[in-house]
Amino acid sequence: MTTRIYYTEPYRRTFDATVLSVDAVDGRFHVTLDQTAFYPTSGGQPFDTGTLGGAAVTDVIDREDGGITHIVSGNLKAGEVLAGEIDWARRFDHMQQHTGQHVLSAAFDRLFGVRTESFHMGQQSSTIDLAREVSASEIAKAEDDANRVVWEDRPVAIKFATAEEAAAMPLRKESGRTGALRLIDIEDYDLSACGGTHVERTGAIGVIAIAGAEKFKGGSRVEFLCGGRALERFRTWRGALAAVQKHLSVPPIDMAASIEKMQDDGKASQRVLRGFQEKLAAHEAQALLATGSPLVVVALDGWDAQGLKAIATAATAANPDAVIALFTTTSPSQVVIARGSNSHVDAGALVKELAARFGGKGGGKPDLAQGGGFTAATAELIAAVKAAAGGS
Ligand SMILES: [Zn+2]
Repeated sequence: MTTRIYYTEPYRRTFDATVLSVDAVDGRFHVTLDQTAFYPTSGGQPFDTGTLGGAAVTDVIDREDGGITHIVSGNLKAGEVLAGEIDWARRFDHMQQHTGQHVLSAAFDRLFGVRTESFHMGQQSSTIDLAREVSASEIAKAEDDANRVVWEDRPVAIKFATAEEAAAMPLRKESGRTGALRLIDIEDYDLSACGGTHVERTGAIGVIAIAGAEKFKGGSRVEFLCGGRALERFRTWRGALAAVQKHLSVPPIDMAASIEKMQDDGKASQRVLRGFQEKLAAHEAQALLATGSPLVVVALDGWDAQGLKAIATAATAANPDAVIALFTTTSPSQVVIARGSNSHVDAGALVKELAARFGGKGGGKPDLAQGGGFTAATAELIAAVKAAAGGS
């Protein structure tokens, strides 16, 4: 057994301890102490980091036998007494998130009778999984009530009870544990069996902000941020909004409408552009056929695949003997091949052949086919099409 200093003194950052055992495992050292302030990963809360005798503590494991294993980078000696120090910024962040979770879970429980099935504290944010799906308005009400309790700055007490005593108490969630139970009591709001580290008054949580919710296993998974993490997320979002605002020049509240309008305008412009393209395509087709040769293989600057398709089909409609292969001048390039009704060239097979030979993809019908992703030089592609189409 390792005496857990954090059980009764969650604000202790430094401590002295005697090394009970050291095992070398894969270049690291597994160290057991007579007592520790290091929190081991358990109950949804990640482990503490810090130093032990000056060596870095990189993981802390809760063992089944009641002991705690510290994974340490430097070799320590059994029997020596050394100083431990936990990374307080990391620990305090965990305390804000964990106590915030108790308050938020209690809010859903008290307001709507919705139980929290599990809790996970991640690197950026935390989640609770609720037993049933909750609505946006329920989430808002729980968030409001939880923050009311934060701002009322209620005491958070640590208590111990036997399993029998606890059975008679109004615990939010019955505990499956036997023996002595550690209870976290948020005054007149929540009583839960928990081995985690907590702030001593709810005010230290700062704020509880819900970042999002999604359906999960028949219930809801609610993502939230407390205290410093909420501020950090606010900064990130403020930066992102400011970047968007530079382009849109409207306040955040109007951004969605502004983007929707831009998209509508974009679609309308596209329609106008397509109309002009169709008209221009007919002229381009005449120019291509003016050379007199039924086989036309060229790259056309300023046209996309859709425009090339309009030109090629206009040309083959005007001259049933024509075979028209048009490349974009983009990189990678795209190709459209069309053939008139008198021609026996298989446009689809031609595009597939190009893709097989030069990389890229595409295909289509014998009279009209399309391909893209060609990185070979346009001259090389044109020569290949001329050789294949001219020979058939
Ligand atoms: Zn807890």
